[in-house]
Amino acid sequence: MSMPSYPDISRVLYTAQEIEDRVKELAHAISQDFSGQDVVLIGVLRGSFVFLADLCRQISIPVAIDFVACSSYGASSVSGGNLSITKDVSGVVQGRSLILVEDIVDTGLTLRELKLFMESKQPHSVHIISLLDKPSRRKMEVTVDYIGFTIPDEFVVGYGLDYDERFRHLPYIGVLKPEVYNK
Ligand code: 5GP
Repeated sequence: MSMPSYPDISRVLYTAQEIEDRVKELAHAISQDFSGQDVVLIGVLRGSFVFLADLCRQISIPVAIDFVACSSYGASSVSGGNLSITKDVSGVVQGRSLILVEDIVDTGLTLRELKLFMESKQPHSVHIISLLDKPSRRKMEVTVDYIGFTIPDEFVVGYGLDYDERFRHLPYIGVLKPEVYNK
């Protein structure tokens, strides 16, 4: 199958096939590690929706699915690490094994705050899985329990990740040409 190419993408970092293979490995690890537990996968909207959809279908133990959405209080106040939850989980999480499903960890601010927020609901445990990790830009220490791929400091799109709500539907992960966001 030929890969759709876009003039705004400078190169493909991970093909659909490479992502599929890695997602299977991650799902296998989760199925083993959480066997016998009451698991809720919590997708962090919107970027994780493709990853979550593929991941959950490769998991072989029973899991529930829920979502949260958040936004930082504004670009300049990000240093405070304050996050506003714009959509809370819908179901019960108390006493359950939560796995936050994220598309990418960059500075770590989002997941650090989200983890604290989830821990305040008295779950059994909170773990984190992220498809991508950009460790070079970390500002907040946060333990990411499962990582798909570690990537360099470049702005990537596709497989759920957007730039200005575009490119989420690309089946691969690609590097966006800097001239697109420097315009
Ligand atoms: P953090 O709080 O870890 O800095 O932010 C994580 C969020 O920043 C991700 O959920 C994502 O929305 C955004 N982000 C960080 N790096 C990238 C990137 O390379 N591409 C895209 N599309 N979003 C990114």
